[in-house]
Amino acid sequence: MEDNNLIKFAYYLEDWDFEKGDKKVLKKEAKEVTTTEYLPEMKGQIFCPECSVPLFKSPEKKEFDTNGRKAFFAHGRKYTPDCSLRVKKAEGKKYTSEELAKKAIEDDELVIVKGFMKLKPVPPKNDNPQEYQGDPVEDIDGELADVPIGRHNGESFSLPSRITTVRGLCRNFNKNMYKYFHLPGRKNAIQLRDLLVDIKNVHNIDDVPRLYFAKIKSSINRGPTPQNIRQTMFEYPRGEYVDFCLKAVDLSSREHGIDDNS
Ligand SMILES: [Zn+2]
Repeated sequence: MEDNNLIKFAYYLEDWDFEKGDKKVLKKEAKEVTTTEYLPEMKGQIFCPECSVPLFKSPEKKEFDTNGRKAFFAHGRKYTPDCSLRVKKAEGKKYTSEELAKKAIEDDELVIVKGFMKLKPVPPKNDNPQEYQGDPVEDIDGELADVPIGRHNGESFSLPSRITTVRGLCRNFNKNMYKYFHLPGRKNAIQLRDLLVDIKNVHNIDDVPRLYFAKIKSSINRGPTPQNIRQTMFEYPRGEYVDFCLKAVDLSSREHGIDDNS
């Protein structure tokens, strides 16, 4: 969830100028407008409520951008005073040396994900039934991977990687939220919290695999279990697309904790 909605409202004031204008006047006389209240004739006359730099609405004429994110206000590029409302760049975490990147992995701050398991993880073999049976293996060592997370112009480091599962990411979720993950095919190591996409913001088909989250509204299995398809409906705002449904066989759904009561 890259927070593009840091600026909840813009100051709208006609004939005010960032270089010559008095900020006190702006704060006193401007009207507060949200992205939904924005009108095309306000273009060039809306300003940041914190740093007073000219803002623009993105996308200008639509409610959502091509990534399905709600329209937001952003700072123009001409002036760049420090402002806590500036969207942090999703450049991701960079490391000055391979040693430091390795250290971050050892310290559990950085995870290089080489891939996701193709097959369902199996519980560990258990020769002695009385022995404690652990969780299925959800996360295993991968090979060394070349990862472009060097500080100097995309310099690559050779780093130990993991083959994991979504369930593995969900375990210790609160801790994982703040770890940096380098996912397959990505250029950056990004905090998990910034990699998660709320399906409510999805309004287009997406070719790039992403990590989504949703709230279940209902789940129904309309045939013989366990091989029948279970239809799990998510909370989703009706728009161009009417609903958002996960179709997976009942067996697999139940293994993920989804049943009629979900
Ligand atoms: Zn600002």
